[in-house]
Amino acid sequence: MDLNASLDTLKGIGSKTCALFEKAGISTLEELIGYYPRTYERYEEPVAVAAVREGDFVSVCGRLLGPLETRYIRGLSISTGIVSDGLESLQLSWFNMPYLRNSLKSGVPYIFRGRIRAKGARITMEQPSVFRVEQYQGLLGTMVPVYTLVKGMTSQMISKAVRQVLSDKQLLSDALPEEIRARYSLAEYNFSIEQIHFPRDEQSLQAARRRLVFDEFFYFLLQLRGLKEVREKAENRFAICERPEPEQLLGSLPYKLTGAQQRVWRAIGQELTGHSVMARLIQGDVGSGKTIVSFLAMVQVAANGLQSALMAPTEVLARQHFAAFTALMEQNGFPFGAVLLTGSMTAKQKREAYALIESGEASVVIGTHALIQEKVVYHSLALVITDEQHRFGVRQRETLSQKGELPHTIVMSATPIPRTLAVILYGDLDISVINEMPANRLPIKNCVVNTGFRKKAYEFIRKEVEAGHQAYVICPMVEESEAIDAENVIAYTEALRGELPLSFSIEYLHGKMKPREKNEIMERFLANEIQVLVSTTVIEVGVNVPNATVMLIENSERFGLAQLHQLRGRVGRGDAQSYCIFMHTNDGKQIRERLDILCKSNDGFEIANRDMQLRGPGDLFGVRQSGLLDFALADIYTDADTLQQANEAVGTLLKEDPKLLAPGHQALKKKYERLLLRQNGQISL
Ligand code: ADP
Ligand code: MG
Repeated sequence: MDLNASLDTLKGIGSKTCALFEKAGISTLEELIGYYPRTYERYEEPVAVAAVREGDFVSVCGRLLGPLETRYIRGLSISTGIVSDGLESLQLSWFNMPYLRNSLKSGVPYIFRGRIRAKGARITMEQPSVFRVEQYQGLLGTMVPVYTLVKGMTSQMISKAVRQVLSDKQLLSDALPEEIRARYSLAEYNFSIEQIHFPRDEQSLQAARRRLVFDEFFYFLLQLRGLKEVREKAENRFAICERPEPEQLLGSLPYKLTGAQQRVWRAIGQELTGHSVMARLIQGDVGSGKTIVSFLAMVQVAANGLQSALMAPTEVLARQHFAAFTALMEQNGFPFGAVLLTGSMTAKQKREAYALIESGEASVVIGTHALIQEKVVYHSLALVITDEQHRFGVRQRETLSQKGELPHTIVMSATPIPRTLAVILYGDLDISVINEMPANRLPIKNCVVNTGFRKKAYEFIRKEVEAGHQAYVICPMVEESEAIDAENVIAYTEALRGELPLSFSIEYLHGKMKPREKNEIMERFLANEIQVLVSTTVIEVGVNVPNATVMLIENSERFGLAQLHQLRGRVGRGDAQSYCIFMHTNDGKQIRERLDILCKSNDGFEIANRDMQLRGPGDLFGVRQSGLLDFALADIYTDADTLQQANEAVGTLLKEDPKLLAPGHQALKKKYERLLLRQNGQISL
């Protein structure tokens, strides 16, 4: 069968049906089988009337208490009836089906199946389908495809046509190379197409869906990479080999790496010693432990006599990384010199640092990005790590790449999927996801409250501090102006000192402070000399004070969900139970609903996902989002893992066979070319 054939080659499809299908964008057999169901009707066991809730789509089994009543309003008829399952009763209503009054008998058991809606206090099942009991028995457990329709079309028309195509068993060869299918445990193509239309059960449906989602990403990325062929990976000219030091470092840690950290570290270790220069994004939720992975990479490079640079977005964070790194080096007796480079250092200190870097005595440079990038002459820079990428533009990475040999790069980001996708779009990074939290963590407990709760919140902070912990208060944001923010922080701190015991040290942090002042405050907070830190969002990025267990966020309605999640990530970084209080001044229902998302989830991926749904995808990619959301099945948020796998698969494939010349890749090549032809000009980056 030729998949490019037009629909009228199918039996029972004439020009009229063809025209209808064409309106839905289906002209060829390939387009027909690629027209996936929007959802499935699942025939499940009827539920008790007492158990139905607004919004449910359910079946109930019961008898009508009397004949239907039909009213007419402006030419429309509304028929209503009451069904009882013997214990409870439920209202049913139908639009424009007056004949039901004659066909449905009271006293006879039926299955009614439909959506439950609430109108005031009463709930109604709207427009239910009606089945005889035996008839429903036959349907139990099945899933019937529901398609997106144009006027005049029915789901049955589509499924009938699809069945005809599928009945030709030599439908299609699987274009995806066998090795990829095996590596990612993907279902076979014909199976997947059949199961996506007519699923046997949930499990088969999931397997089919995953395979087809993979395909969508795979071909999308293949085209993307194809276009970027010129920018092929540079050869790895650094003589880096495996060394025992990273393992030794791991052995000295008070914890074991999570499975995800191990996986990512393995990938990095291999790439450092591999054929081409690494360009990798490590994406992991706040607190997932990205820092240690970057340290391992730097140690590996240092052990090979080469240099690494770690760029942090803030001075506070740079200092923290530097302190943590040097402590680990001392603890393990490693001889690798590390230098710090930040804006608040004196000119003399900076000159000394530059000299150490240029001579190669310093193996590791940690600092704020501007300093690392612009003024430094490296001796043998082999690895550049950017922490918390969302504060940087993509362009900034390129500056460093121009200093001598192209170094390996790692970008670490806590920004969930959307940003990662943007990075895929920008094209040059491979992705690793740390999708697992350290095992010792207790999930943060959250609450959303209005300002009436403030006294209680202070009381709560007092208790936590008295128990030896520390707290953050994120200060009200009133204006989008740093100067005014600063005033607010200062005034708030004054007020808070009056509310909490005199023995507490309460200090503030804001963007207008000098770096040196900020550092001092952060260092004192880290040492628990300060118990309560009042701050603007400057603490958002990366700081790690595991003893802090409470965060109170004032005016939380003024922040984006993703940002709130980042803020919250400053607590819950140690063994102790942590808390986050989202306080809002405005009691609107929508505001509560939005904040409730944070309450219910501590998962950055999920939150970003919901945030995007609420805001619409327009915010996501700015001008670059075109075409991206055109996937038929794939959901860029929830299918992130599959996206990552497809990305990896495309990378490996093109590395091994960039022109798709291998005999096993011929079907793929054909499909790729067909797609290119069809999508001609649609992927414009
Ligand atoms: P992020 O990914 O947000 O940068 P960090 O790397 O700062 O997170 O790690 C957060 C905290 O978790 C740090 O205190 C770190 O020492 C600790 N940590 C990292 N990995 C693990 C692990 N596998 N088990 C326990 N704690 C860990
Ligand atoms: Mg971090």
